[in-house]
Amino acid sequence: MSNSSVPSTSAADGDLVLRFWGVRGSTPVSGPQYAEFGGSTPCIEVDCGGRIFVVDAGTGIYNFGQNHRTDLPREIDLLFSHLHLDHTAGLPFFKPAVLDGERTINTWCGNLGGASAGPTLDRLFAPPLFPVTLDAFPCTFRHHGFEAGQTLVFGDGARVDTIPLNHPQGSVGYRFEHGGRRLCLISDIEHSDPWPDPDLARFVADSDLMVYDGMFTDGEYPTCRGWGHSTWQKGVELAKLAGVKALAIFHLHPAHSDAVLRDIEADLRAEMPTAFIARERQSIVVGARRRAMRRAGLRQAAAGEMRRRIRVA
Ligand SMILES: [Zn+2]
Ligand SMILES: [Zn+2]
Repeated sequence: MSNSSVPSTSAADGDLVLRFWGVRGSTPVSGPQYAEFGGSTPCIEVDCGGRIFVVDAGTGIYNFGQNHRTDLPREIDLLFSHLHLDHTAGLPFFKPAVLDGERTINTWCGNLGGASAGPTLDRLFAPPLFPVTLDAFPCTFRHHGFEAGQTLVFGDGARVDTIPLNHPQGSVGYRFEHGGRRLCLISDIEHSDPWPDPDLARFVADSDLMVYDGMFTDGEYPTCRGWGHSTWQKGVELAKLAGVKALAIFHLHPAHSDAVLRDIEADLRAEMPTAFIARERQSIVVGARRRAMRRAGLRQAAAGEMRRRIRVA
C-alpha cells in the first residue's frame, strides 16, 4: 500500500483533526482489492483541539471505538448525516462505549423535520432484525432532533453549523470551525441542476477541507440519476467555485477497487492538485498543508530579509 501522496499529517495540541474510520458507501466490502482505501461504511472522527465529535455510525465505528478504548469522554456526541443503513448499522458495535454504564451517547439527527433518531433506531435494532433493542445496552442513549440548517450549540459551548442536502429522505451537511480552520462534511448528496447550488457554495466557502460524496464518476452518473449521490467532478466544481482549499472524495462506490480508485485519483489530481480520495484510518490535520506552506514562506521571507541585511551591512 502506498499512501505517500496522501496528506496525512501529525497533529499538535489545539489542531482541527479529521480521521476517516469508514469511507465506503452503501455496503461494506472486503478483500485484497480494497486494502488501500478500505471497506467500512461511513464513520468520521472530528477532533476540535481535543473536543471529539463522531459523524455517522457505519461499520467503521467499530474501529473508532477500538482505537479509543480508554480516552473517550463520558458523553459522546454522535452526529448523523441521516439514518440509512450504511450510516447506522455499526451503532451496537461501538464498543466498549455501548457496554459502559457510565457512558452517555448523544445522537443528533437533522433530516427528519426535527424528530430524533430514537424511534427509527428502535425499529431497526429490535427482533427479529436485531436480537435486542438499544435500551438493553448498559450505556445511556439520548436522542436529539434538530432541523438541518440550524446551528447546533452544545453544553460546553461548542458550535457546529448544518445544512440540508439533497438525498432520499434528506441528509445533513456539517461545518466545523476551530483554531481558524474550517472543515465541511458534505455527504450523502446528489448534485442539483444547475450546479453548484448557491446555498451550499456559501456554506462551504473558504473551507480548508471539504469531504464530498463522489460515489460516481460523471461517466457512471447517468444510469444512477436519482439515487442520491454525486460525482467527484461535481465536487471539484463546487470546491473551485467556493474557494475550498482541499477536497476529499468520500462515500466510495463498493465496486471501485483500489486500482480503479487510484486511476480516478490521478484524474482528480489533474483537475485539483490538493484533492484526494479518502482512505480508511487516514488522519488529516485540517489546514496543515497551508500552515506548512505559510511557514516555508515565512522562512523564505526571513532568509531574504537576512540576505538583504547582510548586503546592506
Ligand atoms: Zn450512504
Ligand atoms: Zn443515504
